[in-house]
Parts: sequence; structure tokens; C-alpha cells
Amino acid sequence: MTNCNTTCPYCGVGCGVSAEVENDRVIAISGDRSHPANFGRLCVKGSSLAETLVEDGRLLHPLLGGERLAWDPALDLVADQLRSTVARYGPESVAFYLSGQLLTEDYYVANKLMKGFLGSANVDTNSRLCMSSAVSGYQRAFGADHVPCSYEDLEHCDLLVMVGSNAAWTHPVLYQRIAESKQRNPAKRIVVIDPRRTASCDLADLHLAPRAGSDGFLFAGLLNYLQRHGLVDRDYVAAHTEGFDAAVQQAAPQTPAAVSRASGLSVDELEQFYRLFGESDRVVTFYSQGINQSATGTDKCNAIINCHLATGKLGRPGCGPFSITGQPNAMGGREVGGLANQLAAHMNFDRHLELVRRFWQAPAMASRPGHKAVELFQAMDRGEIRFVWIMATNPAVSLPDTAQVRRALQRCEFVVVSDCVHDTDTAAFADLLLPACGWGEKDGTVTNSERCISRQRALVPPLGEARPDWWMVTQVARRLGFADQFPYEGAAEIFSEHARLSGFENDGQRDFDISALADLDREQYDRLAPSYWPCPAAGAPVGPAQGHFFTPTGRARFVSAAPALPEPASSDRAPLQLNTGRLRDQWHSMTRTGRVPKLMRHRDFFSISLNPADAAALGIEADSLVAVENSRGRLTALAQLDSGQPAGQLFCPIHWNDQFAGAACVSQLIPALTDPVSGQPQSKYTTVALRPL
Ligand code: SF4
Repeated sequence: MTNCNTTCPYCGVGCGVSAEVENDRVIAISGDRSHPANFGRLCVKGSSLAETLVEDGRLLHPLLGGERLAWDPALDLVADQLRSTVARYGPESVAFYLSGQLLTEDYYVANKLMKGFLGSANVDTNSRLCMSSAVSGYQRAFGADHVPCSYEDLEHCDLLVMVGSNAAWTHPVLYQRIAESKQRNPAKRIVVIDPRRTASCDLADLHLAPRAGSDGFLFAGLLNYLQRHGLVDRDYVAAHTEGFDAAVQQAAPQTPAAVSRASGLSVDELEQFYRLFGESDRVVTFYSQGINQSATGTDKCNAIINCHLATGKLGRPGCGPFSITGQPNAMGGREVGGLANQLAAHMNFDRHLELVRRFWQAPAMASRPGHKAVELFQAMDRGEIRFVWIMATNPAVSLPDTAQVRRALQRCEFVVVSDCVHDTDTAAFADLLLPACGWGEKDGTVTNSERCISRQRALVPPLGEARPDWWMVTQVARRLGFADQFPYEGAAEIFSEHARLSGFENDGQRDFDISALADLDREQYDRLAPSYWPCPAAGAPVGPAQGHFFTPTGRARFVSAAPALPEPASSDRAPLQLNTGRLRDQWHSMTRTGRVPKLMRHRDFFSISLNPADAAALGIEADSLVAVENSRGRLTALAQLDSGQPAGQLFCPIHWNDQFAGAACVSQLIPALTDPVSGQPQSKYTTVALRPL
């Protein structure tokens, strides 16, 4: 029996996992006590990982039109289709759609092939749906996608503001760390801002339940309050920021009375929160999809960051605006440029195109950003994108307006899907299915929400003919004539190149630098312990802790934006507001967690939560069937009465899908409204009608 450390493949906490392996089987899973994210803790999803390593449902061989194919002709076909599509319609006619489930090395190679060698930046990811507003918010404020916090800050702060996050369910191990720190320090205060009363409110000293989507008003009002009550750190603002006066002027109308009208909170509640924020020395604002998944998500992120800049609560222990990513490797995707508007190593199209071209010796560098996730499928629907390769994700379930996404996939001339499972809603549209290694078979790195790079290690041999995603892309690149630039024989070499690029001509103005890890040989890479970035090969890292930001002036920027309430799609004026999110024991579209009986016990049916008063008014009984509908579609769900649910608001989990439960995909009701800066869809808000069946 051997013991091997690896990383959990579910949420952005990125817990270290210890696996006991015997005869090519994982026989026990426990938390890795040495991992700085979890110190041995695991939630129920992580501790059930061994039960997901089953053959049931796995895609085992390349399949063309349902018929088994050998790898060589399958890869020849992908290369031929890419080559002929680009030749006939130009580079913008091809796209890759990636996933926060990929490893950094998979992401790096796919991004390199598309942006450097096919000449298109149409490479985007399902991470667009989870944290792209946070990325845009950091970029606007700091000049780079720099997360200025770590998990220890959650323990060291005096005040933790959790907004738009039900961490007790979505990031359970972080929530445990927060709960334990509050036990150790009873003076610590926790404010939860969420329209729903969730499990995370159990820790709250103050729960604010504002009108859905009104968070921008709350934080603009906070900036206004800080200014009016002498709670601004004038020295910090003068030394390290720009744009303060304009932001304060923009926020001036947001008096407690005005915010009360917009949010539905009382002036007393608001002032209690504002005083706590202003008077606490160390404050972390912890935010997630409730902030990001909004048509004004980027502005909300900046409204939060503005308050930390105004009070100097940034760049020192126990302080900062902390976006928590949903997926295990959303951060790794950001690092290698897996978003259509970024280049590798946090570089951008405006300033770094030539640098990346030179480093890659790229013959066909994309010259401008590509389509972001929602736009990408809209372009496919219009016939502009004719080839797509979808890796490790299920957009027919997870993107908004799934009817349009499915129509786009039908119209696309050639759809490749590489995945470890066979029976997804998206796989049904594939011309060619390629079997990918799953967790426990893959080898590479992931980066969690606090910028900690950890190894995911192969524990068992791949099932069937499954192969790593980086290997498939490399084989296709070689068939397209790029063997010299895609020489990789293992993940270690890819990681090394990625690390070298991060330090290439880096004058300290680029935040992402891991060049200290560039010279690892295979053995050192295999043994790589969790490592935080930045870790430059030369010199000390600089960032917010040193009062340095990555803007041209080196100062952080206040962003002025007027807050706004969410609007339903023009076709929907239905009476009830619908919010979507995750359940405690499920992950994404349940392709893994849905196969573990223990994880189904928490909620084994597709349900919609509503306030008992709404149920009574509509004549709906607990556990009865209801129809949920708007102009885009109709679902049937079980009604779950929940007094924590505000009147007039419904909550529906994102996990169920047509393959799993039949006509139970909530994204079909969500319009394709996106944030104009980040492109992130407004998955947290639409309107629907509800009636008993
Ligand atoms: Fe995995 Fe997240 Fe649970 Fe940790 S908290 S074990 S990373 S699902």
C-alpha cells in the first residue's frame, strides 16, 4: 500500500488530500494534514472521492458518431477539421471552451495552440461563469488580477463580511476555519449579507437580508458613510491610491436613507454594519458568486474594493477584499490566460502581445481578444464559429439560455467533446468524443483561491483509453505542424515552460511570476509542495503588502460607478424572483457527485425553495409538484418550503440536468444577460411564475 498526496477536484478551497492506494485502487481518503489550505480537514464531497472512481458512466474510448475509433484517426480528424475550417473561414471560425476542472498544464497548452498557432483568441472557459467579474474588478483597481488575501486573513480579521456567499455549503472547509477562529476569538464579528437566511448565517452576529442584487448600493453607501464620519485613512489614500474624490462624489447620494430605500434594509441595520466596518481595525470582505454573477458584477466588486482602499484595510494581515473562486482551478486558468481577453501569465493584449509571440515563437498570434463564453456560443449560433472543442465541461447545462446554447451546438459544423464521462447533455451534441483522464488519473497542478499552487497526482492508471487533455492538444498541435513548439512528454515540462514565461522579461510590473519554479526537473515537480505565488527567481515579490500596485502609476484605483438594481430580461415580467446556486453535497452537473449514494442523501430531488407565505398564497403544499416558468422555458420541481427564503424570492439548485433527471435544467430559465466589463452572466437573478401542478 502506498500513500500519495494530491488535491481535491471540487471547490476553490483546494484542500490537500491523502490517498491510500493498493493494487491500483484508492482504498482510503483523508485530509492532508500538511496542506496549508485545510490542515487535514475535508468536507463530505472531498472525503467521498474514492467512491467516484468507478467505471460506471465513464467515456472509455474515442467515439465518432457513436462508433469506436482508435486514437490516431481521432486525432487526425481533429487536426484536419481545425486546418480545413481555418482555411475556409479564417481563424475566428474555431474555438475552444475550457473548464476550471482542467489542470493548469492542460489549460496552458490549449491556450497556446489557439492564441499563438491558430491565430484566434476564441478560447474561453466555464470559469467565466464563476469569477470573471472578480478578475475585472481586481484588474480595474490594481492593474492586475491580483488577489490580495490569504486564508489566514480570514482567521486574523476582527470583522469578516461575507457577501453573496453561502460558504457553509459552497466552501465548507474555509467555513470550518472561520468558525474555529471565531471560537478562539469570541470578539471577532461576522456580518453575512445575503437575501436568504442560509446555513452560513449560523455564525453571523449580524445578518443583513437586502433586496436581491442591491449590494452595489450597500457598498457605495458604506464609502459615503466612511467619508462623512471621518473613517477614511487619509494617509493611505494619499500615498497609494488615485480617483478617491470622484468615487466619493459618485457615492454621495447613497445616504443610509437612500440605501435603505434601494435595499429594503433599515437605516439602523445599515448604520450598525457601517460602524462595524469603519471602526474595526482588520476587515476582510469575502465574496463569491452572489456578487460576481450579476450584470453589474464588476462594479459591485469595485464598490467593495473602494471601501478597503478608503480605509487602508488592504495589504496587511487580516485585511482585504477576498474573492473566493468556485472551481478547483479557476485560478490556474486565469494564470495561463484561459480567458478570451487575457494572454498567458496574467499578460494582456494591449501591452504584451509581442512578448508572448517571441516567447512562444508563435507564427499566428491572435491580435485581439476573442469571444467570452456567452458571446462565443452566440457567435456559434450565428454560424460564425464552425468548429468547437469543449473540454471537461457541460455548457448545455451550465450556460444561461440553454435552448440557444443547444441550438448553437447543433448548428456548429464540428463539435469535439473531451470528457471523462460519457452521458452529459453536451456530449449528446458531439461529432467526436475523446476520453479524458479524470481525477485520480490526471497529473499536474491547480491553484486555489489564495494563490496556492498544489499538485494533483495520478493515483491509479487511466480507465480504458483515457488520456490527459494536455496530451490530446499536444498531439493535435504536432499534426498541425508545430511539433517543435509542442514537444511535451509530461506535465512537468509544460509547468516549467509556464513558469519560465511568467518570469520572461518581467520587470516587476507583472504580478504573476513563478519563475522560481521554472527549473524543476521531473522528480522535483513530482515532489512539489504547495507553493504560493508570486515567487520570482530573482528579487522579492512586490504587491499590495508593499504598497505597490500594477497600474502605470503604481497606485490602486478607486472606480466610480453608479449602483443599479437588476433588471429582468425584457421578455420576462413574471412576479417572482429566481436565484440559483449550489447545494452542500453536490458539484456542478452531478457527473461525479451524483453517483455517490451518500451525497444524494442531503437532497435527492430537484426542488425549488420558497417562503411558506408565498406557498400559501399560491395554493402550493410542501413537497408537491410545481411548474416554474418564464418566456424561455418551463421546469417541474418539488416545492420545498423554507422560512429562510424571503417572500417573493425562489431558490433553485444548478446541479440537476436533463441527463440526470430529465427536463430539470434551471439554466434554461436564465437569460443571457451579462456584465458589460467581465462578460459574466447574471445567473443569480431572473423572474418566473410558479403554480401548483
Ligand atoms: Fe474539496 Fe472544497 Fe470540500 Fe475542500 S472544501 S474537500 S476542496 S469540496
